[in-house]
Amino acid sequence: MAGPIVHMFPCLKDNYGFLLHDPATGETATIDTPDAAKILSEAAARGWTITQVWNTHWHPDHAGGNADIVSATGAKVFGPEEVTRIGAAPDRILHEGDTVKLGNATAQIIETPGHTLGHIVYHLPDHHIAFVGDTLFALGCGRLFEGTPGQMWDSLDKLRALPDDTVVYCAHEYTASNAAFALSVDAKNADLVGYAEDVTKKRAKDIPTVPTTIGREKRANPFLRADNPQLQAFVGHPGDVVATFAEVRERKNRF
Ligand code: ZN
Ligand code: FE
Repeated sequence: MAGPIVHMFPCLKDNYGFLLHDPATGETATIDTPDAAKILSEAAARGWTITQVWNTHWHPDHAGGNADIVSATGAKVFGPEEVTRIGAAPDRILHEGDTVKLGNATAQIIETPGHTLGHIVYHLPDHHIAFVGDTLFALGCGRLFEGTPGQMWDSLDKLRALPDDTVVYCAHEYTASNAAFALSVDAKNADLVGYAEDVTKKRAKDIPTVPTTIGREKRANPFLRADNPQLQAFVGHPGDVVATFAEVRERKNRF
């Protein structure tokens, strides 16, 4: 049986929109609602009708288009409770371990507090796909607007435990600046150097660097390497995973 199709497209300044379509049943989900008009036109161009909204967190560039998508399509909204901060409550509020079905495809919910306290990730284990919102970026991670470094590290550690071949759809194209920062703390990491060269080539041709994979990020993303002894020593916190993560995140904020 064919698996679901992911259609990814740029929108707003540096967001990505994602439509997940199950060919067997015709069901289609939009992952977040950064730009309702763009999402509706991308769906229409494929002859798809949006039946579900899957929110990752409450920020306006992720849930701000919910009302327009629902009024245009009647789609059911799934998401964390915090989405009520900018609009209607989701039809179904999701928690760790819950499952969401789109036709024949099933997503498992992973709670990833840090960027916001209610942030969730949608993992489709049978299809090796994860929609990670603003928790994990290619060579980066989300800013800690609401959570602590310890919470964010635990969240990233859960994503790090997914299979290496998991295809990771991040919600922003931030990779060129993330790569420059990553090299400033982990310059001797050969996997990172090769990855950064690839990013430079892709961005010069305006090619997206999303999706990435868990395996690739584990080897090169400094925010997934806070337990690496070389990185810990470089930022001055040998043996301390959370202090290393917090220091790397602080340096990125100032970079
Ligand atoms: Zn956000
Ligand atoms: Fe965002």
